[in-house]
Formats: sequence, structure tokens, C-alpha cells
Amino acid sequence: MQKRCGYVAIVGRPNVGKSTLLNHLLGQKISITSRKPQTTRHNILGIKTTEDTQCIFVDTPGFHSGHKKAINRHMNRAVITAVNDVDAIIFLVEKSQWLAEDQLVANQLKTVKCPIILAINKIDQMADKRVLLPHMQQLMLDVKPQEIIPISALQHQNLEQLITLVSSCFPEGEPFFSSDQLTDRSSRFLAAEIIREKITRRMGDELPYQATVEIESFTHQKDVIHIDALIIVEREGQRRILIGNKGSMLKQIGQQARQDMESLFCSQVMLKTWVKVQSGWSDSERALRSLGYHD
Ligand code: GDP
Ligand code: MG
Repeated sequence: MQKRCGYVAIVGRPNVGKSTLLNHLLGQKISITSRKPQTTRHNILGIKTTEDTQCIFVDTPGFHSGHKKAINRHMNRAVITAVNDVDAIIFLVEKSQWLAEDQLVANQLKTVKCPIILAINKIDQMADKRVLLPHMQQLMLDVKPQEIIPISALQHQNLEQLITLVSSCFPEGEPFFSSDQLTDRSSRFLAAEIIREKITRRMGDELPYQATVEIESFTHQKDVIHIDALIIVEREGQRRILIGNKGSMLKQIGQQARQDMESLFCSQVMLKTWVKVQSGWSDSERALRSLGYHD
């Protein structure tokens, strides 16, 4: 079979399941290496290699909302190129919802030249899947994707089919990266995502989009991965809530995050977490760096 290799971006409004999808696509197959890929055409989040296909998932900063100020400025330069320089885009929406924020993403995609695969996520939550059909017809007209596919990132439904659709957009060619190769950024990114997820799950709406996680160090010592994570919040009150009574909340978040990291990285993990108040972080260069944006 002819081999294919390409770059793909997952875009969509907050909360549709982009991180979940990426985590489940990359899944347990992650092996961490500190070797860096030779090319730096993109900010690579992760690489999925199967027998005949290599999917390289890249970050598209402009599609992250929630950190408006500095990132919007940054966006004008870097981002548009990032989305225009991939071989396929997965545009993620959820169930039969179409919000104003989905429309914003759709608008951003209008000028994009590569094929768009529209994936409707969270179908496991739909009791009556018949409502999907008219919705899909409407999306076909409005968004004009190459394909539409219903999926459940969480329950692993149709993910193989999604990858097949995406890779059909890729050029033919040998893999760019060896199959065990993953950027250092990917494992850091995933570690930060796990902590973010635990915070969101524990805190609900008490810290809406106002905590960011920065992985300060990620090292292998003997058979143990040592991870130091800094959680940055905007206000002192948020710091108190996050730490909890005698540190109980932060401890639970850390324990749950560590368990997920251990199964993801197939290794023992020592996780240390700190909480720091940095008001206006979203406008600082540091925040940009923590998200992986370098000039
Ligand atoms: P992101 O903001 O687009 O990265 O979204 P997340 O990946 O953080 O997911 C947001 C929420 O949706 C989380 O609570 C996920 O567990 C949940 N979620 C993601 N995918 C699915 C799915 O396929 N089914 C269900 N039921 N929930 C999902
Ligand atoms: Mg996310």
C-alpha cells in the first residue's frame, strides 16, 4: 500500500472536544523521546503513525479563543500561515449545536485552501441520532466541507474512519518522523492538558478559562518522569479556591493528574504543582511562551 504523510490541524470553538480527540487519537501509543524533529515548519502537538499513514497534528494558535489580547496580536502574523500550511483540517463541532462561536471558526476557515473534514463530536450523548441527518445536510451547504463524519472522541467511535478520511487528503510519501518520535512539546503539552482538565473538572465554573498551566520542567530520572507544573491564575481569590482547605483541592487535582499521566506515559510520574497569581497574564509574553508561541 502507498504510504501517506501529512500535517493536520484540529480546530473548533472551546469545549467541543479538541483536546479529548487529540489525546484519544494519540492515545496510549505515546512514547516520549527528547529527540527533536528536524523540521520546524509547525508547532507539533503530536504524531500518529500507523502502518501506511503518518498524521502530524499541529497547533493553530489563532483558533484558541479565551486568551484574547496578546494572542490576537500574535495571530495576525503566525496563525493564518499555520492553517494555510496544513494538508487537512479537522473542524470539530458538537451534536446538533451550532453556536455563534462555531460560526466564527467557520468564517476563519473560508479562505483556507486545504480540504476540511467536519467531525460532529459527542454523538454518544445523542439519544435520537436521526436529528443528525438534516443538520449534516445544512452543514454541508454552509461550511462546504469535503466530508462530514459523526464521532465520539471520548468513546472512540469512528476515530479510525476519521483518520482514513484525513489521510486521504495527504500527499503520498514516506513518514517524516520515525514512528516512536514525538516532540518534547507534545508530552509537555499533554501533561499540561491533563492538569487543565482536572482543574476544570474539579472547579467547574469557578475558574472559567482563567487558569493556565505551564510545565516548568519535564525530565527523565532513572525510570521516573519528574514534572514541575505551575498553575497561573488571575486573582488571589482563585488561588485560594484552587489550593483549597489545607491544600486539599490542589492535592486531589495533582493525584488525579498524576494517575492519568502515568497511564499515558507508561511510566511512574513525580508531579509537583504550584499555584501563582499573575494578573493580566494573558497579555504577557510569558503566557505566550507557555502556550508554545515563540517568534
Ligand atoms: P476543547 O476545549 O475543544 O479542547 O474540549 P475538551 O477536549 O476539553 O472537552 C470538553 C468537554 O467535553 C470535556 O468535559 C470532555 O470530556 C467532553 N467530551 C469531549 N469529547 C466527548 C465525547 O465524544 N463525548 C462526550 N460525552 N463528551 C466529550
Ligand atoms: Mg482544549
